Amino acid sequence: MSSLYDVLIIGGGPAGLATAYLCHKHGLSYLVLESGKAVFQGIANTYPEGKHVYASKPKDAPEPFLVDELRPPDKPVTVESYIQYVQHFVQHEKINVQTEVALEDIREERDVLSVITDKRVFRGRKVVLAFGSSIPRELSVYGDAKMVAKNLEDAGKYVGVKTLVIGGGNTAADVVIAILKAKREVNDNQPVYWSHTSGKFDVNKETAQRLGEEILLGGNIRLYPGATPRIGEVDKEGVDRLVIRINEFKQADGIDLYHALSFPMENVIACIGSQGPMPIFDKLGIQMITCAAGVCKIAKEGDRLALLTSEFESTRKGVYVIGGAISPSYMKIKEGAIAEERHPNLIYTAINDAYHVVEAIRKKTGN
Ligand SMILES: Cc1cc2nc3c(=O)[nH]c(=O)nc-3n(C[C@H](O)[C@H](O)[C@H](O)COP(=O)(O)OP(=O)(O)OC[C@H]3O[C@@H](n4cnc5c(N)ncnc54)[C@H](O)[C@@H]3O)c2cc1C
Repeated sequence: MSSLYDVLIIGGGPAGLATAYLCHKHGLSYLVLESGKAVFQGIANTYPEGKHVYASKPKDAPEPFLVDELRPPDKPVTVESYIQYVQHFVQHEKINVQTEVALEDIREERDVLSVITDKRVFRGRKVVLAFGSSIPRELSVYGDAKMVAKNLEDAGKYVGVKTLVIGGGNTAADVVIAILKAKREVNDNQPVYWSHTSGKFDVNKETAQRLGEEILLGGNIRLYPGATPRIGEVDKEGVDRLVIRINEFKQADGIDLYHALSFPMENVIACIGSQGPMPIFDKLGIQMITCAAGVCKIAKEGDRLALLTSEFESTRKGVYVIGGAISPSYMKIKEGAIAEERHPNLIYTAINDAYHVVEAIRKKTGN
């Protein structure tokens, strides 16, 4: 039987790491499960290169940063140096993190919560959901496409191979540009295939200019507008492959003719945007309230907000939700009433939520 942790933490961003650090400090056993390659993957994926990180604090917030160790410096630093600082901190404090493990479901057996991931099952008495607001969309194909990357970690990895980038926006274009550049620098002439389900790519002028430059400098690119990812399959050699249909001809006899390309999934990057955490909340059975006309000030009519106690516990007992996952607002249960609560998506909020959750858990467990 696997270990039973006091607290399982989903997500290794500011909210998850602050929770972990406080558990560590107060003698609660814990483990952070992070779907990315490293802690702060969410920030690494969403901040532009060189962006400054600000220690922003909402004007009317009464509390200081409650976990000073993770506070961004007053004098803004680049996102790269903030991430580097946090990685050193995690190593120095020996924070328990398992990377490349993604939450899929939570089940209950008496007082124990079983966290089902894409790797294995972990057991905890409490679960803190700190997976942020930006969950990469999954490719919806017949079969499994989990091996397809959702962001570019190292363009050099694609040198010497035919690579497929899926997605029609600026993020996909940036990935294409970075791979073309890496290939050009080592005279690799293998093409980058770029596909999008729509018939038109949609990038801004500045990105289009940079892409144009790469092509003029010798970048080998093949464009497939209107191509749809169809099947994830394992070939005879045991290689996971993704099949994309690049065109389709309806014939008079009712038999369709189509052309498709098949790529090893490890050579595919899907930049098809991100979604909010609603689908995960639904899957986990976390209750949400739909904003009716005139009820919500921050959320719009029809938006669904997570229903939480003032200690961030959800309607699933022992499951807490904090940080970006509940921004910009949630429904707070307080003194028998329910009201929309403002929750700015900031590092400050994520860190301070962690503090309050760990205090609530300590009160319950006596630690
Ligand atoms: C471009 C940009 C600039 C910003 N600048 C600032 C700033 O200067 N100052 C500031 O205070 N705030 C800033 N913010 C906001 C700030 O980054 C967020 O408020 C903060 O990152 C939220 O922290 P979090 O831990 O809740 O979520 P995240 O930082 O998103 O961390 C969540 C983690 O969970 C992981 N995860 C997701 N799904 C799963 C899963 N199923 N299983 C396991 N792990 C999972 C992700 O990989 C990620 O590492 C900025 C945001 C953006 C997009």
